[in-house]
Amino acid sequence: MKFAITSKGDAKSNALMHKIRNYLTDFKLAYDDSEPDIVISVGGDGTLLYAFHRYSGRLDKTAFVGVHTGHLGFYADWTPDEIEKLVIAIARTPYQIIEYPLLEAIIRYQHDGKETRYLALNESTVKSVDGTLVMDVEIRGEHFERFRGDGLCVSTPSGSTAYNKALGGAILHPSIRALQLAEMASINNRVFRTVGSPLILPAHHTCMLKPVNRLDFLVTIDHLTILHKDVKSIQYRVASEKIRFARFRPFPFWKRVHDSFVSN
Ligand code: NAP
Repeated sequence: MKFAITSKGDAKSNALMHKIRNYLTDFKLAYDDSEPDIVISVGGDGTLLYAFHRYSGRLDKTAFVGVHTGHLGFYADWTPDEIEKLVIAIARTPYQIIEYPLLEAIIRYQHDGKETRYLALNESTVKSVDGTLVMDVEIRGEHFERFRGDGLCVSTPSGSTAYNKALGGAILHPSIRALQLAEMASINNRVFRTVGSPLILPAHHTCMLKPVNRLDFLVTIDHLTILHKDVKSIQYRVASEKIRFARFRPFPFWKRVHDSFVSN
């Protein structure tokens, strides 16, 4: 079996990365940066986002596992003092795989037939470059509302504990194949009206955003922010691809939510 390790880049994460690499090499596992069967991310949830995007071209062949060197993460739930246990478990393959849904974003442009497709593990957000974001929101091909406000956030179930949560969105269990649309400071008065609540769409429903006046937008895909010009539409749905996590012990999602946000 081939493995790769991504590190957050700080001294503690780098030292742990070298330790894990040496242990796994002692177990006769091969280090392979380009085609790993398992990717070990050392740092935090942000580090796992980087690892996901680095290997998003081979998701069906790669499993991820996260070690945190700071606070408990949703994707990074192993502690540095559990490393020996983790290494032995990895070396003793096969291991159990659990899959989480991903978000697909397709951006189409006004003047050519080109489109750009992205996969997000946490979420995609849309903001105006300057001024209020004005977007027509269509759900399943039907006009739903005209949104005016700071922005819109479309998240995956596992991303629901990140930006979405700060926007008052619900926390969704990652076994639910769905996407969540949350508002950022919508303008609501006698003239302008939006639903005001986060919406949860099933996997067979598409959410399409269509510009009303300005055509340039700042679109985020997890930690990446990209300026898109002359946008015709931004289409969101649950992706056909999934992220695969290597599971070596039970750590229920609701326990992670409790330990991260309630108390530990
Ligand atoms: P960052 O601004 O350095 O860190 C954002 C924080 O979000 C970190 O504490 C990170 O945890 C945490 N996080 C990432 N994924 C999470 C998840 N699925 N559940 C709970 N917490 C999560 O940015 P970054 O490290 O590059 O991460 C990008 C993410 O930041 C975006 O995907 C977005 O979700 C989030 N974000 C949140 C807000 C907000 O809450 N107002 C605003 C902008 C962006 P670690 O410390 O373990 O890495």
